[in-house]
Amino acid sequence: MKEADLMLKHPLAKYLRQERMPHIWCEGCGNGILLNSFLEGLDELKQNLDRIVVVSGIGCIGRAAGYINVDSFHTTHGRAIPFATGVKLANPNLKVVVISGDGDLFAIGGNHFIHAARRNVDIKVICANNFNYGMTGGQYGPTTPLGSWTTTTPYGNIEHPFNLVHLAAASGAVYVARWTTLQVRRLKNSIKKALQKEGFSLVEVISPCPEIFDRYNKLGTAVDVMKWFKLISQVKHGYDPAKAEVAKNKIIVGEFVDIEKPSYGRLLREMTANVQDKLKGEK
Ligand code: SF4
Repeated sequence: MKEADLMLKHPLAKYLRQERMPHIWCEGCGNGILLNSFLEGLDELKQNLDRIVVVSGIGCIGRAAGYINVDSFHTTHGRAIPFATGVKLANPNLKVVVISGDGDLFAIGGNHFIHAARRNVDIKVICANNFNYGMTGGQYGPTTPLGSWTTTTPYGNIEHPFNLVHLAAASGAVYVARWTTLQVRRLKNSIKKALQKEGFSLVEVISPCPEIFDRYNKLGTAVDVMKWFKLISQVKHGYDPAKAEVAKNKIIVGEFVDIEKPSYGRLLREMTANVQDKLKGEK
């Protein structure tokens, strides 16, 4: 059977734009696992694909928006969240998902992230955190661990990285989870949960970058990195996100925040309806 026919037989094939295959991701990259987990989540929830919009910024994982067979936007660097906010406010019936990387979301787009979380905009952010800017050659970024080597930190990184789950929780997100690409079933379940919640959600996915970051840091093959994830991951639901910093010998994974509060869109619609009623009463 031809490779193209085999791909069409895959149970998730209908969720992918076959004309965009093969994808550009390197062998062993975690992006494929993230994408698969998202598609499995969509499939299990039996989502109406006409109601799903995927938005991404720039970076290796940003290509996901072009691969998924739903309405999608591959936007400018760091601006996925403002685009997604606009889509959601224009049509509240859509489920809007941002799939992007750590550099795009937390360096160039950092300001957008904290304010969308603070406002509780009803968008779901799935962040592939590979600790560097993979697509542009492996520069250090806002999540590069202290002491790590990248193309722009040849003597080791001296900047303290963001703890993404703490940042999201402190900014006001209603659902915050972190998994590595090893915990695929839990990752899929968190994505499903985020899709069903109203409000700003972050699912952080610690994802291998075997071609660049892992090679610079002598972490071995993609399989070695998965073994490392197995060794150092500790599942702790409800753990204080402030204490869940990613370290070389420990990655705390789990659900850190799961709360309810009205979303920005809901409050905006209520306010608009109240103002309209008031104006009608004044006529
Ligand atoms: Fe994946 Fe890294 Fe290759 Fe980008 S550079 S596709 S993150 S392995």
